[in-house]
Formats: sequence, structure tokens, C-alpha cells
Amino acid sequence: MAGQKKITVVISQAPGRNPAKRELEEELAAALLVENEVDVSLVPHLNDLTADHSGLLYLRRVPGDVVILSWLYPRAARWILDRNGVKGQMGISLLKSAEAGDDEGIPAEEEARPNAIGALEVPKRKLYCLDLRDQSEPRVYLDEIRRIAREASVQTVGLDLMQWIGGSPQPAQLQRYLNPFLPVNGAPGPSAAPAAGGASDAGEVPPPAVATTDEPPKRRWYPIIDYSRCTNCMECIDFCLFGVYGVDTLDRILVEQQDNCKKGCPACSRVCPENAIIFPEHKTPAIAGAEVERDANFKIDLSKLFGAPSALEIAAQERDTELVRDGRDAVGMSVGVPKRQESKPAGPRDALDDLMDDLDKLSV
Ligand code: SF4
Ligand code: SF4
Repeated sequence: MAGQKKITVVISQAPGRNPAKRELEEELAAALLVENEVDVSLVPHLNDLTADHSGLLYLRRVPGDVVILSWLYPRAARWILDRNGVKGQMGISLLKSAEAGDDEGIPAEEEARPNAIGALEVPKRKLYCLDLRDQSEPRVYLDEIRRIAREASVQTVGLDLMQWIGGSPQPAQLQRYLNPFLPVNGAPGPSAAPAAGGASDAGEVPPPAVATTDEPPKRRWYPIIDYSRCTNCMECIDFCLFGVYGVDTLDRILVEQQDNCKKGCPACSRVCPENAIIFPEHKTPAIAGAEVERDANFKIDLSKLFGAPSALEIAAQERDTELVRDGRDAVGMSVGVPKRQESKPAGPRDALDDLMDDLDKLSV
């Protein structure tokens, strides 16, 4: 269909007024406005959006593949979106950080760990999450978005044509082919926020638009669960004494009361045996959602060799600080933590065991 755009690009703006960040966002928006392949929109910082914010209402309505540019690690952005009903498979970006070495490989396709519970109801469409901290040059992002648009075009046409040929088109397919801005079931379409040029009558595809949304939301702090790693072990719900976690109707762990979490406290992320808990705003990359080695716990536990507190001890101290702030008694390692330590099966020997043996030999 003439004028049909192949992909939606959403720029999630940085909180605050950092001029360098604003400049990059504005340069990208201006360049994308004149791209034939894309529709572009602006939303506030993803981490700060509440479930009823118009930025998320808009994102839930976007059909097909989406590129999300945000000031977050891609893994954090992907699971924030999933948590808020913006679902899709993680698209692989070839964009590398400016600091990455030449020999650093391209990330592999997202794979749930074998014992992970996985996300629910994930459609085939892809979410490509790009980190705006990776590069300062808009050109690098534009090149990657064009590559993704080409890839998305092939996937979308192939998948949708097969479904059209094989049976009745789904509402989302009708929407994609006829007009992505048409309302579904009487609800407002994705351009709920006023768009430059505005939405149009059925059959007429609106011009590229940068849709801005409400007032900047307040800053928020809460954990996000990466269900491609989470095994539903319930360590986090046992550990947190502030009512943040709960279970859904399928007895799956979830972050139930996000805003009960204590600002700046990342304690439960240190307790999770799978590194599945992300605090997107934490300054430590491994906690904020950067990809980490599977044996990251091994690195943390090296601190034991030098008499430093272990990750679990640090977590208990952080939790005690928040309990005391709330006028409650500190509990140290007596709640939540012992269960995990006692029930953890003795695993096969690993590199830490070998290192300990070598150090023992040296000290003889
Ligand atoms: S501690 Fe980690 S793996 Fe266990 S239920 Fe919580 S998030 Fe999932
Ligand atoms: S960081 Fe602290 S308050 Fe927040 S969910 Fe984890 S244990 Fe609970």
C-alpha cells in the first residue's frame, strides 16, 4: 500500500534537561521525520511511566515491529515494556557501544534459560531496544534503524502474507495494511496524543509525526523481572519485607507494588540467584540490566577471599537500613537469606573451588 510505513521508532526521552542528550534526541527525531520507512514518536523516560500514562497507552497500540531508543540498557527497556503490556520478542541490534572493542561479537538471539519461566503471551513481532548512551553520533543510529526497517519489512510481509493466504486477517493485520492509526474496538489509535499533521480518514496514511505526550512524569524506582532468567524460586518475595513482590493467578512471581520499593535500594537484585532482577536506574551496570556473564555471582563472591562482605551480606545491610528508616527493627541475615543458603544444592566444582584450593596450597 502506497505510503505504508514499515516500522515505528519511539524515542524515550532522558529525564532532566541534559543538553547533550536533548540534542541527540532532537537530531534523531528531525532526521527520522523525513525517512520514508519509519513513523517516529517521542515519549518520556520509559522507567518513569505509570501504567496509565499516554506514552504507554500509545506504545500498546503500535502494531508490528518497533525500535525503541532509550537511555537504558536494552534488557531493562525490554522488560519494562513487557511489564507494561508492550510485548514482543527482543530484536537483535548490531549497534555496539563506542567503547566496545573491535573483537566484541554481535549479541546472540535472546534465549530463555532452560529452567526459566519465560514471559507470557509474547507475539512474534520484535522490539528492537537501542541504548542512546552507546553512541553520540545520530548517523550511527539512523544506519541501524534503516537496517532494521529492511529486516522488519521482509519479516512483516512474509509473515502477514502467509496468514492472509491461510485464513482471515487478524485485526492487527487489517490495521497494519489499511491504516495503523485507525482505532481498534472503538478505542483511540496510537496517535492519541496530538500529532503534527494529525490522524486521517480511513485509507489515508498520516504523514510522519512526532507525537509528544503528557507532562514529564515523576522519577520512579522499582525492580523489573527478566522472565527469560527467572525460575520462580521466590527468594525475592521471601527477602523483601516491604510488600513489593506478589504472585499472579498462575503463581508466578511479579512485582506487585512497584512504588513500595525503597528509593536507591537494590537489595533483592543481589539475592536473586539468576541475576533476573533489574533496577534500571542503578549505577552498577550489572544491576541496571547490562548483559553480564552467567557466573557473575562468582565474581561477586571473590570478595569473600579478601574479607569484604558478600553480596548477601550487603543486601541484608541495605534492607536493614530501609527497615530502620521505616522505624522497624533490623533483621540482618535472619530473614529470607538462610532459606536460600540451606536449600541451595551443592553444585559441581567450579572455578572458585579451584582458586580456593590453589590459595590453600600457597599458604601451606
Ligand atoms: S529471586 Fe530471582 S529467580 Fe527467584 S523468583 Fe525472584 S526474580 Fe525469579
Ligand atoms: S530493593 Fe528492597 S524494597 Fe525494593 S523490592 Fe528489593 S528488597 Fe524490596
